[in-house]
Amino acid sequence: MLKILSLGAGVQSSTLALMAENGEIEKPDYAIFADTQSEPEHVYTWLNWLESQLSFPVIRVTAGSLRQELLDACDGIRGAWGRPAFFVKNADGSVGMTRRQCTQDYKLDPIMRQVRELAGVKPKSRGPIEPIVQQIIGISFDEAHRMKPARFRWIRNSYPLVDRRIHRLQCVEWMHKHGFPTPPKSACTFCPYHSDAMWRDIKHNDPGSWNDIVYLDERIRNGQHLLLKGTPYLHRSCQPIDLVDFSCATDYGQADLFGNECEGMCGL
Ligand code: SF4
Repeated sequence: MLKILSLGAGVQSSTLALMAENGEIEKPDYAIFADTQSEPEHVYTWLNWLESQLSFPVIRVTAGSLRQELLDACDGIRGAWGRPAFFVKNADGSVGMTRRQCTQDYKLDPIMRQVRELAGVKPKSRGPIEPIVQQIIGISFDEAHRMKPARFRWIRNSYPLVDRRIHRLQCVEWMHKHGFPTPPKSACTFCPYHSDAMWRDIKHNDPGSWNDIVYLDERIRNGQHLLLKGTPYLHRSCQPIDLVDFSCATDYGQADLFGNECEGMCGL
């Protein structure tokens, strides 16, 4: 069976990759990283380093730049099919969230195209009825609710961290115990699913990304072509992100929102 690690280049999947290299779990034949071309620079630096530590190939696939698609959608150059799920304030004051399509279009679909190619399963075909691919996914025990069965009968998903009851924090501990640095949290810089702790971290430690986030947050409100009924915001408070007060300590420890409807690929 072909073994493929879905590598998000975050804490959990990076730990899995190194555990495999260390012989603690079965080594995959390939790791696949789906690049939205919208991650912070330090994630790409981390990925380069991680790749240098692994004896199995890391294949990078991409559907293009999600950031650029967002800007194009604001300008009406092309549709907004792959956009992130914005928070939207409606005329009656209620707050909702638009449908998220980016994980499917920029993570799951490019990975699936590559898996099909590696497994010799033609695009759009239903494939064999028995599993021929094991897809290894780095969901930790504390996020076990994000597990999902594979979409196709020929793929079997496996969750070694859940099987071993390993939490996210224990992944970090494992990395340190083996002399490795702490992996970054991987996600697009402007992802509306960030926790406040994550926004705060970007604001304080990555001014280049922060300035771009402020710019994008403004652009989506001027993006007439996004065809939204309400007013979109990147932050859940529905305020312009540069006006959000991130100094309050009470939200420390707030979880990110990936678990709400995540299909198990972003932020791992
Ligand atoms: S990290 Fe966020 S914005 Fe990027 S693809 Fe995932 S859900 Fe979408």
